[in-house]
Amino acid sequence: MTKVEFKYLEVGKIFVVGNKNLKVKYEKNLCQGCYFEELIMYCKDFTDYELIPACNRKDHSVVFAEVKK
Ligand SMILES: [Zn+2]
Repeated sequence: MTKVEFKYLEVGKIFVVGNKNLKVKYEKNLCQGCYFEELIMYCKDFTDYELIPACNRKDHSVVFAEVKK
């Protein structure tokens, strides 16, 4: 997967961060209900370090939800 493909990972896709599986979900309110909601001040940093995809996108926003293993 390229940097850009990861950054704009599609809704419904699952990625791994640390020991968590997280799924990309459509959400019109930026960061609302996101797994990282309490860390929203850092989500751009996480994205810049390529740890998570971008949540704030041109046409919509997404959040990340934990998928139980
Ligand atoms: Zn966010």
